[in-house]
Amino acid sequence: MWVLVFVLLVLTSGCIAQDNQSPRPQKILNINPITHASVMFNYGGVVVYVDPAGYQGAADFSKMFRADIILITHHHFDHFDPKAINYLLKEDTVIIGPETIQERVTYARVLRNGESLEIDEVKIKAVPAYNLKQRIGVEYHPRGRDNGYVINFGSTRVYMAGDTECVPETKALMGIDVAFLPIDGVDTMTPEEAAACVEAFTPKVVYPYHQGSSSPVYFASLLKDKGVEVRIMELP
Ligand code: ZN
Ligand code: ZN
Repeated sequence: MWVLVFVLLVLTSGCIAQDNQSPRPQKILNINPITHASVMFNYGGVVVYVDPAGYQGAADFSKMFRADIILITHHHFDHFDPKAINYLLKEDTVIIGPETIQERVTYARVLRNGESLEIDEVKIKAVPAYNLKQRIGVEYHPRGRDNGYVINFGSTRVYMAGDTECVPETKALMGIDVAFLPIDGVDTMTPEEAAACVEAFTPKVVYPYHQGSSSPVYFASLLKDKGVEVRIMELP
């Protein structure tokens, strides 16, 4: 049984006129959270997935739109699922991720922290995602290995945090319209940490994802009257 939550947000992205006579038509950005850590964006027909992963049967990617771009934050199973990726492929799909995914998807393009590229008017920048607190003996998300992403769909800036704590690079983000932040607290952020993080970089809209057993309703209550719109859904 899989659940697909569709069309929770439609943002009209800004457009940049090429000249004064012929402004481009505005493109619509649809944002479709799918599961735990998987999100699909449709930007005027350009289909972008971040971390498409079946997550123990919670989503069936064989029934979903094929991808133009697939962004992977890191190689953990709840983010990187080669089987799901296979369902989404078409001839010219571009897969982008950190070095660790190339072991299993050899044709992926590597993007390291701080690097960026543009495809189909979608600007993608890899940003750091890592743990400040280390579990004893384990470096679960070491600094420099994994990615978050800042994605510019036209003038709409989206931040996909991936598995990270609210690190200084996150707090320093500017001009984010929509942010996806993890709240499960398992080598990520607790709801309290995620709420404090929102207050630090002030996105306009925030989606709590990577929820685990944390309550997105509780997370939203921490941001009541803080001037940010919290979009709540229970993600499988
Ligand atoms: Zn992880
Ligand atoms: Zn994860």
